[in-house]
Amino acid sequence: MFWPKLPIKKDTRILFIIFLAGILLPFSLSAQHTEVVAEKGEGIYRLLTRCGYPISQYLEPFIELNKARLGPDNTLYAGRKYKLPLRGDESQQDASAASPAKTPPATKTRRYEIFGSNYQDVEIVDDQLKGAVYHLVAGHGGPDPGAVGKYGDWQLCEDEYAYDVTLRLARNLIQHGATVYMITRDSNDGIREDSYLKPDKDEICYPNLRIPLNQTKRLKQRTDAVNNLYRKHKGSFQRMVAIHVDSRSHGENIDVFFYHDKRSNTGRKAARILQKVFQQKYDQHQPGRGYNGTVSDRNLYVVRNTLPVAIYIELGNINHRRDQQRFIISSNRQALANWMFEGFLEDFKTNK
Ligand SMILES: [Zn+2]
Repeated sequence: MFWPKLPIKKDTRILFIIFLAGILLPFSLSAQHTEVVAEKGEGIYRLLTRCGYPISQYLEPFIELNKARLGPDNTLYAGRKYKLPLRGDESQQDASAASPAKTPPATKTRRYEIFGSNYQDVEIVDDQLKGAVYHLVAGHGGPDPGAVGKYGDWQLCEDEYAYDVTLRLARNLIQHGATVYMITRDSNDGIREDSYLKPDKDEICYPNLRIPLNQTKRLKQRTDAVNNLYRKHKGSFQRMVAIHVDSRSHGENIDVFFYHDKRSNTGRKAARILQKVFQQKYDQHQPGRGYNGTVSDRNLYVVRNTLPVAIYIELGNINHRRDQQRFIISSNRQALANWMFEGFLEDFKTNK
């Protein structure tokens, strides 16, 4: 073995070895993370699910661990290697001990076929939203695709993208003990990971009604569905959440916007809580991006005529290049649902 020809004593050499080990050890420790290559079109959710990691526990550790390798809005690059969090070992325990807010491991699972085969089994993580009832209305559907954007050869239909995000939000809410009604429903479109969500026209209105083409009839139908359920749950904390994707002119700077009924102070408060969460999330994940989404009242049929406190959310512009990324990348759709979930949790804690 070669040693520098310096007058170094044997003790010093040993110290030098210890010093080297000190540098190298952290690397060898981090090598214990199993690495996995992201597949084409795969988001964090899909990847973790594929590897058998419960999302509720491992989403944040995964993001933390792979921060430098993620794309905008925490997207994955196909073909790139990602580290899987350590499971059930000391460092994992340390991490959870350091943040007592972390939820305990799931104890029960319920099946909801509407989420599709990959997502139908829902772990009930905790009961933070126990007592809360959500009526989720994905915009348009049935014969009405809503706004249609163009992305290359694809026709992006508002109703499909709004529906996918709404399902993801529904699943998040259920995981934390809420009662959730999907008002717009599609029995064969579960949560989808595809970038291109193939449009169809077979959505129905809760519980099992064909959606009419006539706009007034369509809006009245879903409003009636919500109001019937509202009466059934009278006295409970309830929210009607309408989820849309806008289609204003190309040049306009568009973001995630929140609307409430003019007469509803609670609606305004809830919308502001959601908007604040989005502001924080964008500051945290895309510093310098600038987020301009606002809260305002708006005279919209479902907002005006539904009995629960109503929040109407526009997720972006289906024609806008940048906004399209928010929809066609499935992990971005999940991020939207996660952020909305955080807002609704905060709304529940604040306004119940
Ligand atoms: Zn719409």
